[in-house]
Amino acid sequence: MKCAACHNEMVKKKGEIDLRIHGKLYLVRNVSYEECRVCGERVLSPEVSQDLYGKIERGEFVEETVRIPVLDGTYG
Ligand SMILES: [Zn+2]
Repeated sequence: MKCAACHNEMVKKKGEIDLRIHGKLYLVRNVSYEECRVCGERVLSPEVSQDLYGKIERGEFVEETVRIPVLDGTYG
């Protein structure tokens, strides 16, 4: 599969990604995805994202408190 952003070949990976669905941030562990080695774009297969959306709809997730480093972008 080629990257939609820069058209380089993507590599299959398995691990942890973050997803923003309906404005809410979800952390997904042990998921298969493809990643672009050039620009870092990550893509889930349609089957995997459908499965994840289903799990969210059915509430099949655990709530954990995760500390995320937050940066404030400063220009000029
Ligand atoms: Zn790319």
